[in-house]
Amino acid sequence: MKKALLAALLLPALAQAYQPGKTYRLTVLHTNDLHGRFWPNEHGEYGLAAHQTLVKQIKNEVARNGGSVVLLNVGDVNTGVPESDVHNARPDIEAMNAIGYEAMTLGNHEFDNPLQMLAMQEKWARFPFLSANIRLKDSGRHLVKPYTVLRKQGLDIAVVGLTTEETATSANTAYTRNLIIDPAADSARQTLQTLKQRKKKPDITIALTHLGYRSDTALARTLPAKSFDIIVGGHSHHTVCMDNAGRLKNNHRPGDACRPDFQNGTWIMQAGEWGKYLGRADFTFKNGKLA
Ligand SMILES: [Zn+2]
Repeated sequence: MKKALLAALLLPALAQAYQPGKTYRLTVLHTNDLHGRFWPNEHGEYGLAAHQTLVKQIKNEVARNGGSVVLLNVGDVNTGVPESDVHNARPDIEAMNAIGYEAMTLGNHEFDNPLQMLAMQEKWARFPFLSANIRLKDSGRHLVKPYTVLRKQGLDIAVVGLTTEETATSANTAYTRNLIIDPAADSARQTLQTLKQRKKKPDITIALTHLGYRSDTALARTLPAKSFDIIVGGHSHHTVCMDNAGRLKNNHRPGDACRPDFQNGTWIMQAGEWGKYLGRADFTFKNGKLA
């Protein structure tokens, strides 16, 4: 008994940033699989200029209510329309800079071009490219940062990037042959362990996963409950809104109320494709609990 008590006392105190009793408001905005659609389509729908207007409006509204916004992209910015492709997706990335994106996961289509192009895109971006499960064969090091920590109102929000294992075969293999694509769940576990060992444990943990909706639900169920507070997904182009019976709605229209999926203590979201939707989820955070 004495031994157990001593061991407990010796455990380092995991300092957390939140103030007990205080209610924080956090709005997560997200897009995925933009695939070069920085311009509106021929009917004047979507496009990144419209996104900017919407993001500004939401940021103002959230700020008026004392909250914060995080703005995330889940990859596959590249490949889709010639206007973007011939400019190596620079217009898309510059627009994302202007809108204020804070992190992006690498999707499989980020490997349709040589790695030098990806390195150039990373330089253009004023936000980090993330992937915890892509490493270089020769050094074993990560190709890009595995995670980033965003700070909002004193809260530390860890954002972990995960890329589909299909990248090894579905992208241009000439560009991926020097890469190791680790199983996403293994890299998720390792990164969560790294985050736990940080001097200040994150208050909220978000997985930014270019894996597909089915893989997102599998990931949430495979990992111990509540491993991630939120999974923001991409790749399968699903609009993840659930009906009252917990089934995926197949007739969601923009602006309709949308309830994310919830699996094993983790909220799961995804915002369709091509920027047709800007995903929005409003959370409150109090005493370490996100609701
Ligand atoms: Zn994809």
